[in-house]
Amino acid sequence: MERVIREKPLLTLIVPAYNEENNLSDFYSETSKCTADMAVEIEYLFINDGSEDCTVEVLKELCREDSRVRYLSFSRNFGKEAAIYAGLQHAHGDYAAIMDADLQDPPELLPRMYDYVTKEGYDCAAARRVTRAGEGKVRSFCADMFYKAMTKLSGMKMMEGSRDFQLMNRKMINAVLSMKEKNRFSKGIFEWVGFRKKWVEYENVERSSGSSKWSLWKLFRYALDGITSFSSIPLMVAFVLGCCCCFCAGILIFIEIIGFHVFPSAMSGWTGFLCLLLFLFGIQFLCMGILGKYLEKTYDEVKNRPLYLLDDSSLCEEMSGNEGEE
Ligand code: UDP
Ligand code: MG
Repeated sequence: MERVIREKPLLTLIVPAYNEENNLSDFYSETSKCTADMAVEIEYLFINDGSEDCTVEVLKELCREDSRVRYLSFSRNFGKEAAIYAGLQHAHGDYAAIMDADLQDPPELLPRMYDYVTKEGYDCAAARRVTRAGEGKVRSFCADMFYKAMTKLSGMKMMEGSRDFQLMNRKMINAVLSMKEKNRFSKGIFEWVGFRKKWVEYENVERSSGSSKWSLWKLFRYALDGITSFSSIPLMVAFVLGCCCCFCAGILIFIEIIGFHVFPSAMSGWTGFLCLLLFLFGIQFLCMGILGKYLEKTYDEVKNRPLYLLDDSSLCEEMSGNEGEE
């Protein structure tokens, strides 16, 4: 990428936006206020992820008002992960921070995060919610379990409450971009690449307007993607379960044979047999499901489809790139 010589370094704020027409102006004004005194130039890079409302019109308006604002617009909804990747690909900054459009990632943390990276030698400053006030109990519990499972299964320390709100230097941006997988799980990728990270803690903030785009089902799929992207232990679990079942089945068959010869009158056997059958089928389908999940991921990678397609953007330069590819 061609680099322009600037007096001050440039920080790109990457903002995925899906149906956020009511939040964008607030996000822009709040963030502008919080970054006004920072010794850095700011570039806003919004990614319209196939919104069905007037998000793109609001973005066009912001572009007209402020030359620091740019946007990319996807041809349909490709998901937040694709939006983050597109943002990192098109960021011009020496530094980049990923932020939600709904002000749940407090912009007032930006100066502190920037100082950690520029003055204290960290490569990344990452925000972490220490409370989940305002969030549903089931959702909080599931999130908690997910982080625990992920840490155990992947062998990486997945910090509980970590967000995609991370400010990183160019070295880390390039490292993240060098990971070309199609099934992206950014929180895992940000851990996997390593580098020096400073955690910045804050209290949960509720969405400024609208509702979360993540249903429990969507979150479940996201969690499953995260686990299968960074751990092959579930395959091992399938194998171990298979072994246990064979072992149990062997013992039961042995008991049946002995029982048949010693107490032939007491052996009816049908219910036990059915239970065993159901149990074994259950385990078999579970294992097939796990295998299928990995197969699906391999299939996605082999198809090598672009992660996203652009429909429109604020600059022609963005359209000339190979979309979703390096
Ligand atoms: N988002 C997106 N594409 C999607 C879903 C969400 O770009 O398919 C954006 C959304 O506009 C917001 C951010 O990702 O800026 C986080 O989404 P949301 O607030 O719904 O998630 P939550 O904060 O509930 O985890
Ligand atoms: Mg949110």
